[in-house]
Amino acid sequence: MATIKISSGDTLSSIAKRHGTTVEELKKLNDLKDVDDIQAGKTLKVPGDRFETTPAVQGEASSTVEIQAGETLGTIAQRYGTSVEELAKLNKIQNPDRIFAGKILKIGGAPHEKVEAAPSMEANFPLPPKPIPVSDEKSTFPESRKPKASSLTYSDSFKKEVALTFDDGPNPKYTPKVLSILKEHGVNATFFVTGKNAEAYPELIRQIVAEGNTLGNHTWDHPDLSKTSKADMLKEMTRTQNAVDKALGYHYEMDQMRPPYGAVDSTVKETLKNEGDSMILWNVDSNDWRYPKDDQKIMDNIFGGEASVYVRGGVILFHDVHPQSGRVLGDVIERLQEEGFKIEKTDQLLEEKFARNTPPKA
Ligand SMILES: [Zn+2]
Repeated sequence: MATIKISSGDTLSSIAKRHGTTVEELKKLNDLKDVDDIQAGKTLKVPGDRFETTPAVQGEASSTVEIQAGETLGTIAQRYGTSVEELAKLNKIQNPDRIFAGKILKIGGAPHEKVEAAPSMEANFPLPPKPIPVSDEKSTFPESRKPKASSLTYSDSFKKEVALTFDDGPNPKYTPKVLSILKEHGVNATFFVTGKNAEAYPELIRQIVAEGNTLGNHTWDHPDLSKTSKADMLKEMTRTQNAVDKALGYHYEMDQMRPPYGAVDSTVKETLKNEGDSMILWNVDSNDWRYPKDDQKIMDNIFGGEASVYVRGGVILFHDVHPQSGRVLGDVIERLQEEGFKIEKTDQLLEEKFARNTPPKA
């Protein structure tokens, strides 16, 4: 058992993920009645023997870091387990959007423990302290704090707007191909990874994020969650979150979740809501896994029939664990672009749905 100080911006869910535990467990441990029952500055009991990605102790001897090109206060804050506000205050920065490479920044407290990777993994996507360049110069940290819808489902409709999603990876044979096609066409996607594969291929996790894509949680080993207990579901998700954090060397809040097989019941929905995670299903199913040798059929699934991109737009489902998915991807993107579709990430669709469902304040 350990005690931590709650920082501003912390939620029970973010603390639980950081300490490899669950919201339920924290509530029990601290006699909390409600998830909103926490306050910055107060202390919280956490299970002490779990994997930790950020330092629990703050306010020790200050350490410094040099800002690298492409970094933002958000990416730095996330890597060192602090907040943009905290960094701005500590360094007397008026405008957090105006920071310059080469500037020395005070971090406050000891930097987080460096996670070592096997030498072979370091080759292309090394771990911090060499920073991971984020191509759109925007960290996932502020992004994840924007108000967003709690789900994307079959019934949503997005006109001339799609988000590409890839499930079940990362896969050393097929994910690199998918990533290079995305990059070549200047678009990004959301990768719903399993914890098992994230642990096995950490360099791909780093590449996915470094190239501006989003990571989503697809459980540790792909069970049908409608047949899984709530406790086991939470374990599946936390273990996956920890594998991703370990691969990246910092805490990356995965707040989008896709239940395997799209299998959902009321417990799954409620659990995701409690965790503050958005449930991402899909509108258009490429059915790529069904057609290893019929690329035209995959194109037809996306562009033809009752459930095509023309009917509902929105989220398109692929899997980056088959050769055919990467094989058709270039054609799919080019056709979408030729026909004037906007290709975004699920992050943007979630924000758009939230804005659509929220009447403007009078
Ligand atoms: Zn899957």
